[in-house]
Amino acid sequence: ADSSDKHRISRDDISVGRILGEGFFGEVQDGVYKSPSGERIHVAVKTCKDSSPEVKEKFLSEADLMRNLDHPHIVSLIGVIEVDPVWIVMELLEHGELGSYLEQEKYILTETTLILYCLQICKALAYLEGLNMVHRDIAVRNVLVASPECVKLGDFGLSRYVDEQEYYKASVSRLPIKWMAPESINFRRFTTASDVWMFGVCVWEIFSMAQQPFFWLENGQVINQLESGVRLPKPHRCPPPVYSLLSRCWSYQPNNRPKFSQLVCSLSDIHRKELEQEGR
Ligand code: ATP
Repeated sequence: ADSSDKHRISRDDISVGRILGEGFFGEVQDGVYKSPSGERIHVAVKTCKDSSPEVKEKFLSEADLMRNLDHPHIVSLIGVIEVDPVWIVMELLEHGELGSYLEQEKYILTETTLILYCLQICKALAYLEGLNMVHRDIAVRNVLVASPECVKLGDFGLSRYVDEQEYYKASVSRLPIKWMAPESINFRRFTTASDVWMFGVCVWEIFSMAQQPFFWLENGQVINQLESGVRLPKPHRCPPPVYSLLSRCWSYQPNNRPKFSQLVCSLSDIHRKELEQEGR
């Protein structure tokens, strides 16, 4: 069977429950899926309120991207229902968005755990780097929490199969300027190197317990600041070796930024040392 068969599921096997949140295309609900082997799997069901063919196609393009991905730190696709009302069915991540989770648990989470989250997101991005896939929207709002020790990259809405021009027109007000690399702001240029910049901002959010980057600036002021060399300051809880990685992720020249594969090594080292210190 080809990969599209693997993800063909029947609506009768799904019972939906409460609303988890509002996505760009429609509500996201939790539910239970009974697999062919009889296993009951907790799922998140994404719905699309607009039934025009163009919108449906856009909506389903996210699932198309996710179909081919298989990584422990990327939310996995369970199936797609392509007849109206169209549904995208994904594994459920019980603890929801990382941003809200950080706000709730800020007094409990240790630096070691925060480094672990960064490392896990970085591994997911190194995997995408290996597939030559650009994510374009790396931020804590797009990371979901599976358990206190496991986070996953969860939103592929802006990923690369979306036509560049289309993306710009469709969502100019939704562009995440404060997360974007200078070349993305200036020329709408999105590459793995601009993903590295965004990953740096996401790490900053994690150690700031989900404060908004550059909350003290308007979107329109950000590019001037970046061009005069200003960068996000070190959050109190961010270990200096992590902040020195961030400074490299925020090199103005894309070529001077580290690769995700290198960042995985550096963050693993930092995480291991932190664990050793904790043990003492
Ligand atoms: P946007 O483009 O605004 O981010 P979206 O269409 O990509 O929206 P999501 O952000 O993926 O939609 O989903 C909306 C909300 O549903 C999320 O904030 C999250 O709380 C919840 N959600 C989405 N997927 C899952 C999941 N797999 N497990 C648990 N909750 C989820």
